[in-house]
Amino acid sequence: MVKKRICIIHTGGTIGMIRSANGYMPKAGYLETVLDSISDLHDESMPLYDFYEMNPLLDSSDMAVNDWNKIGEEIAKRYEKYDGFVVLHGTDTMAYTSSALSFMLKNLNKPVILTGSQIPLCEVRSDGQDNLVTSLIIAGEGRVKEVCLYFGGRLLRGNRATKMSADGLLAFDSPNCPRLAEAGISIRYLPVPPPPRTEEGLPLDLRKFEDVPIGVLKVFPGISFPIFDKLMTEKLRGIVLETFGAGNIPGEGDSLLPIIRKAFNAGSVVAVCSQCPQGTVSLGTYATSSPLKEAGAVSGFDMTTEASVAKLYYLFSQSLSKEEIKHLMEENLRGELTKN
Ligand code: ASP
Repeated sequence: MVKKRICIIHTGGTIGMIRSANGYMPKAGYLETVLDSISDLHDESMPLYDFYEMNPLLDSSDMAVNDWNKIGEEIAKRYEKYDGFVVLHGTDTMAYTSSALSFMLKNLNKPVILTGSQIPLCEVRSDGQDNLVTSLIIAGEGRVKEVCLYFGGRLLRGNRATKMSADGLLAFDSPNCPRLAEAGISIRYLPVPPPPRTEEGLPLDLRKFEDVPIGVLKVFPGISFPIFDKLMTEKLRGIVLETFGAGNIPGEGDSLLPIIRKAFNAGSVVAVCSQCPQGTVSLGTYATSSPLKEAGAVSGFDMTTEASVAKLYYLFSQSLSKEEIKHLMEENLRGELTKN
């Protein structure tokens, strides 16, 4: 049987960090030699891999839109040569990157799995080895042909994943989408419908992002909206509004709505998400959410903030009209939302 060939793309993150006087930091050239010494990776049963390291390696907290573009480019360049990709990445913004790649890699028909670790490979009890070995096996099996995130035994849809724990080893989950697979003694794939596909057999179409100004505003009790008035200018193209529960905002004083209307009239797209990790926005269920719709906001339904931010970047990079962007924000493009 011909062995599958996987490309590991190392972007940085804890998994390949070493200790320094200022705390853990990535070190160029280090991880490849560590992988050479992990016997599981070279077992007969494992797919073959090639290793590519990005320059510079980053703590994922330092990643920005252009870094997503670079990762997308590296995958696109090698797309025909490999059966799948494992992207090693820091955990802090892994769910943003997995969301971004899910939109950027249009017509993807191979596994792209992001993983990393909470404890570096250079330390005892590192979770990095299992995360990497299992990701490689899943990429080689090729059953899930989409952007995914694998961590702590869970294979998650990339644009549904969110970091749930700053220090636990089960650091990610996808509360609004069933896990794609669970890895215990064996790897059990679950019957989750794949993301909507355009036509089969189309070549990969890399849609790089422009660095458009996007904002996220989290509503909280006592929020003084006039303070945010200055932020809501025509410079801000997209705003993710993290509301209470099913899309509710404080009605007292009615001060948010004039700001949303102002943003809307200035051409911004305002997407309403929930602060609750599980469940969906339903504009109009309560009197406290109806005015948002009237002010021109769109529903993010059950999208994560990570996916909403990435989707705004994606749509604003596609030469679409504001009306088209508003419409597509509410459509399921890559499995990122469930419409109610
Ligand atoms: N700060 C690190 C990063 O996101 C944390 C990690 O990798 O777990 O790159």
